Amino acid sequence: MAHIGIVGGGIIGCATALFLLEDGHTVTIIERDAGGQPASVGNAGILAVPEIDPLARPGMLFAAPKWLLDPLGPLSVRWQDLPALMPWLFRFLASARPTKVAAARDALTFLMKTTEADHLRLGEIAGISGHIRRTGSMTLFDGAKALDKAFAQEAENARLFGFTVEKLDAAEARRRVPALRGDFAGATFNDGYQTFEYPLTLLRRLQAALRERATLVDAAVAAVSRGENGVTVATEAGKRLVFDRLAITAGIWSRRFVADLGLRVQLETERGYNTTFVDPAVTLEMPVFFAEHGFVATPFEKALRVGGAVELARPDAPANYARAAAMRRKMRRYVPDLPEEGGTEWMGRRPSTPDSLPVISLHPADPRIAFAFGHGHLGLTLSATTGRHVARLLAGEGASALQPFSIARFQ
Ligand SMILES: Cc1cc2nc3c(=O)[nH]c(=O)nc-3n(C[C@H](O)[C@H](O)[C@H](O)COP(=O)(O)OP(=O)(O)OC[C@H]3O[C@@H](n4cnc5c(N)ncnc54)[C@H](O)[C@@H]3O)c2cc1C
Repeated sequence: MAHIGIVGGGIIGCATALFLLEDGHTVTIIERDAGGQPASVGNAGILAVPEIDPLARPGMLFAAPKWLLDPLGPLSVRWQDLPALMPWLFRFLASARPTKVAAARDALTFLMKTTEADHLRLGEIAGISGHIRRTGSMTLFDGAKALDKAFAQEAENARLFGFTVEKLDAAEARRRVPALRGDFAGATFNDGYQTFEYPLTLLRRLQAALRERATLVDAAVAAVSRGENGVTVATEAGKRLVFDRLAITAGIWSRRFVADLGLRVQLETERGYNTTFVDPAVTLEMPVFFAEHGFVATPFEKALRVGGAVELARPDAPANYARAAAMRRKMRRYVPDLPEEGGTEWMGRRPSTPDSLPVISLHPADPRIAFAFGHGHLGLTLSATTGRHVARLLAGEGASALQPFSIARFQ
């Protein structure tokens, strides 16, 4: 058995660590901000198995110009960051070709097929249960045409998994989610979606399980390097930790470690915003997507979280919380009782590849090193599956099935 280091203790790092422990390895996780609020903590908490369509696709490119006109709309670019984003954007456009879209769909379907079972297994390893609720989800549409189109697409995806999708008129949607009062054409209900417990609680429970069985090092990693006798992690405080094997699971910040290891990757941040109301005056029976406006509202046991949207920007650029306010304002059109005061705003960084496929891969020249990042909108959903696959890869198995996720595609 090996001593394996893991750089980054978000949801991907924690899931990976637990699967590696289960294989009998000794695991050390190096995390610079264990009490922090990364994407893994502030996300919408949805297990989104039906979402197998990559972001770059013809329909999306068609809608993008209209969205970009609204500076607080579903899609925005921080224009001063555009030069840095250009290579990613070019590859994003190239990924919208029909053959690429079909290949990405197949690849995501492959991961999604085992996602639910992998989460149950992860829960068993961590000793937790009851953290996923079979809620289904609703998606609202302002116009009948958009509803019909989305229903056909959702139904096609649902067939791949045996899920059921219903088309609801506005009255039926309101019957199922009484807080919905505004004007809309109708909705879809998809029973393939599930809801996690509050994402912060889930991550803390996984971290607690890890504290009992692994070593958690509270340090910022400055650099990683390969040597004959091991893989070295140098911390900003000047410590050197040497491992038999290493997994890079640092979300958007994985880029610098990829470069340290002599490789390239196209990884940028799709930043998202939300507002969380604790003990809210109004709640919903299930997550409700406001698809045409690019956000979702998720009910948790004692909270309601409203947000989403995509802001392409440098990871460290200042946050623009006017985006969170814009989504609350839009939601009030449908849920007038949503309060303006009393919520907590948050900005998070989705680590995104241009082809919407995560990197789940060994280093092409060094099988001691694995990469697991770039999960974009689906990192919580795919965390357990990723962890299981990384454990297999580091055991020398399963690489051929994971070819679409290889880091080799960026070299
Ligand atoms: C608004 C929003 C809503 C979302 N909703 C959903 C959803 O409903 N369902 C879903 O599946 N996904 C959702 N996502 C996506 C999901 O949250 C992310 O894909 C996922 O959290 C990425 O996890 P990660 O572990 O790769 O990265 P992160 O959560 O960013 O974790 C990376 C960790 O690495 C650490 N780190 C970085 N650099 C260093 C260093 N130098 N040294 C040590 N540690 C370091 C960081 O501190 C951090 O803890 C959403 C994202 C956003 C922004």
